[in-house]
Amino acid sequence: MENISLLDYCYGCGICSLICPENIISLHLNADGFYQPSISDQPLCNECGLCLSVCAFYNTEEVSKKLQVKGFSAWSHDKEVLKTCSSGGIGFEIGRLFLEKGYRVCAVRYNVEKRRAEHYISDRVEEFERSKGSKYLQSYTLDGFREFNTKDKFLVFATPCQIHSIRKYIQKMNCEGNYVLVDFFCHGVPSYKLWNRYVGDIYKQHDIGKLEKVNFRDKIFGRQTYTIMISGSNGSFYSSTKNKDIFYRLYLGDLCLNKACYKECKYKLDQSYADIRIGDLWSRRFKNNNEGLSGILSFTEKGKKTVAGLQTRCSFKQEETTTITEGQMNKPPRLPISRDWVLKKLDDEKVLSSRSLLVLLNLVKYRNKFHHLVKIGLKILPNKNYHEN
Ligand SMILES: Cc1cc2nc3c(=O)[nH]c(=O)nc-3n(C[C@H](O)[C@H](O)[C@H](O)COP(=O)(O)OP(=O)(O)OC[C@H]3O[C@@H](n4cnc5c(N)ncnc54)[C@H](O)[C@@H]3O)c2cc1C
Ligand code: SF4
Ligand code: SF4
Ligand code: SF4
Repeated sequence: MENISLLDYCYGCGICSLICPENIISLHLNADGFYQPSISDQPLCNECGLCLSVCAFYNTEEVSKKLQVKGFSAWSHDKEVLKTCSSGGIGFEIGRLFLEKGYRVCAVRYNVEKRRAEHYISDRVEEFERSKGSKYLQSYTLDGFREFNTKDKFLVFATPCQIHSIRKYIQKMNCEGNYVLVDFFCHGVPSYKLWNRYVGDIYKQHDIGKLEKVNFRDKIFGRQTYTIMISGSNGSFYSSTKNKDIFYRLYLGDLCLNKACYKECKYKLDQSYADIRIGDLWSRRFKNNNEGLSGILSFTEKGKKTVAGLQTRCSFKQEETTTITEGQMNKPPRLPISRDWVLKKLDDEKVLSSRSLLVLLNLVKYRNKFHHLVKIGLKILPNKNYHEN
């Protein structure tokens, strides 16, 4: 069948589900813990091909060269925004600006009941507050994306691969003029198998009551530390920095990213289908900044107007684009040989505590080193045929 069932895995953006005229595509977590579409009733498929036509994963075209990229360093003047957002609060300020202009804003919140990140729609600033801060998880998109239509105006925040499919969708639906698209420099998304194990473990080991809030980037020790803070209903909380925290070590160690985040990610540095890209500014020039700082790349006329509209509420300075991209991943990570093994171990009931996960992590490290040494050994060992000659 010429439909998305051709794909073994993908970005999980859900846009194919929006466009399907037969409404037979749903999104579910696959065995690796990532969102993937599936067709509920194959005989109902009329093979129109629409699902594949909007799919960023299936269409392998190169990202076109940008003609007017402009770079900026920026941060919000609002101290509360700066404190509660992940970088310089520019994501929040862009949202606030467009809400005032009457746009509907599609962004991501953390759902504590479902333990997942999800897209949703805000029409008021109070609703939009929940989108503050990065949720380092793959978002379930359909609740938010299903609100897209050709009449209203939308500002959309999403990962670069999600944005690529959205761009294709709004072009197909002839309503590109009503949409402003924002993406970010993207490290990748970790498996929900890791997240569910991790949260389950925190419940078991720390008496925090009912989970109330997750902050992936608490700035209590400054912006550089990546402090995760999980607060419970009884006033207790769990907190840890990226070097000690098992979730961050496995995620930022690239050991359990979505398969598509390895060789199929075509969206690093300035490779984007958005109007504007935001992120942390890691350039060495700003290494002493601890409150929060955003790097911005504006790609289009809409991006340029957005930056102009923020001038009264944020500090801005135009920068070389190389300053903005410094410290960002310039290519996707290699698929580690231990990825499948790590994902399998996360299913193992015995490997539940952080302590045993840390042991696991060290085992993985040594296993990788061992494989590396074997590879080097194979390279430097004399070739058998040569010896025989
Ligand atoms: C999975 C992921 C990986 C990232 N990797 C990098 C990176 O490698 N380098 C870098 O510089 N920045 C990265 N970022 C972006 C960075 O963490 C900040 O989100 C960004 O700089 C915006 O912060 P802010 O202070 O401007 O605004 P904030 O108000 O804090 O912005 C957060 C915005 O991100 C959106 N968002 C949150 N979680 C998700 C999600 N799971 N999926 C889609 N959108 C989401 C929210 O809707 C909100 O609009 C990543 C973000 C995510 C979610
Ligand atoms: S990448 Fe998106 S559009 Fe393509 S198959 Fe996956 S969920 Fe559907
Ligand atoms: S080919 Fe058309 S009908 Fe079939 S799943 Fe795709 S969008 Fe739906
Ligand atoms: S790393 Fe690339 S493929 Fe993975 S979520 Fe980010 S943009 Fe998508």
